[in-house]
Amino acid sequence: MTTSNTTPVRTRFAPSPTGYLHLGGARTALFSWAFARHHQGVFVLRIEDTDLERSTPEAVQAILDSMAWLDMQPDEGPFYQMQRMDRYREVIAKMLDDGTAYYCYSSPDEIEAMREKARAAGLKPRYDGTWRPEPGKTLPAVPAGRKPVVRFKNPLEGATSWNDMIKGPISFDNGELDDLIIARPDGTPTYNFCVVVDDWDMKITHVLRGDDHVNNTPRQINILRALGAELPQYGHVPMILGPDGEKLSKRHGAVNVMEYDKQGYLPEAMINYLARLGWSHGNDELFSRDQLVEWFDTRNLTKSPAQWDPKKLNWVNAHYIKQHSGADLAERVAPRIRERGGNPAAVDLPAVMDLLKDRAETLNQLAEGALLFCGPYQPADPELLAQHVDEQARTLLAEFSNKAGALADWTTSALDALIKDILAEHGVKMPKLGIPLRLVITGQKQTPSIGAVLAILGRDTVMARLASYQN
Ligand code: GLU
Repeated sequence: MTTSNTTPVRTRFAPSPTGYLHLGGARTALFSWAFARHHQGVFVLRIEDTDLERSTPEAVQAILDSMAWLDMQPDEGPFYQMQRMDRYREVIAKMLDDGTAYYCYSSPDEIEAMREKARAAGLKPRYDGTWRPEPGKTLPAVPAGRKPVVRFKNPLEGATSWNDMIKGPISFDNGELDDLIIARPDGTPTYNFCVVVDDWDMKITHVLRGDDHVNNTPRQINILRALGAELPQYGHVPMILGPDGEKLSKRHGAVNVMEYDKQGYLPEAMINYLARLGWSHGNDELFSRDQLVEWFDTRNLTKSPAQWDPKKLNWVNAHYIKQHSGADLAERVAPRIRERGGNPAAVDLPAVMDLLKDRAETLNQLAEGALLFCGPYQPADPELLAQHVDEQARTLLAEFSNKAGALADWTTSALDALIKDILAEHGVKMPKLGIPLRLVITGQKQTPSIGAVLAILGRDTVMARLASYQN
């Protein structure tokens, strides 16, 4: 069960491409990735695409895109199970040869009858072992023209146990496990069997996956044992619940991971936030990718389900936004400004980002905030103007206009000083000039600090808007 210290750690993420990668999948991938990185091991990506009806190339692409966006690049793979069919058939043939698997010719009707009989006797519905070879047992005659399935000869006695890296000791009675079908009548291998062969061939030492797979684990362990394979260690991660304590819904996180990119979340914020969903390092809430790798230990994975908290994600994202320089944010936000009809080239965008970044939770909020500077200018609503610009305000505006036109330096500090002087001279408070200025220059009542806004908009724009208001 345990891997020795000298065995290189090899983990894998094995998504089924039946839909986009959602938060639960991304978190499983992250844990496997961080565990491999922590141990200087190898992280394998395996696409489990054998469900032909439900797997799509778009879903494969969505998984690859999400992994790339989160910068969790595999060291090996992606491997595709559909490209490994020959290998699965080879192992099935070997197991039939070894006697660890056998052909079963029972028809679906017969199987149903067996189950019915078990149910009637108050037992768990199961295959009755008709075709299971045993020493001294004579098997029925092979029905003409019927294609068999291949079943794994599961041990009948004892228990299959493992010490789960997250949940602790888990044990299943072998008597509870059916002789699993490992190949269908057309010879195609079944899900659990492919997983086993892959984990074996890919020399996986640690399997971290969702706890919806706990029931598969004893079956997989028994097949691995029958193959003489070394067993990986298993860790089953509890699910993520929505903020309401229910299963994660579309409204709360059960969406394509790339949706978070669209909404303006930074990949490093997602990584930080996802890591904390079920894993902890003391009370640390904010940590870098390198710290995560340094600290990652399965002992600190929690047994209880984690809860999705969009407010906390916003808080984490706001933190990472602040870490970026204005120039860096400008580059990321420019396309989002264009999408919203603004022209990022029309303004000193890094300065805008520096002004806005302390209060933004997402890149989209930055883009929306930036439209004040480089979006189409919309004069203020006349009603608002009438409400806030009285006789005195007009005097103040005119005075500001005269003096601003003559300013030697068009800077935030010079503009702030000018506004302060005018207020002092007239014995009025900030809103008396601040609000009219905002309304006239930006069309809006609320903006970031007015001196900074005027400085970034530039002398020409500010003077032109003041002039057109006064005319
Ligand atoms: N393909 C499985 C899934 O997407 C995961 C299998 C595994 O990790 O063993 O749920």
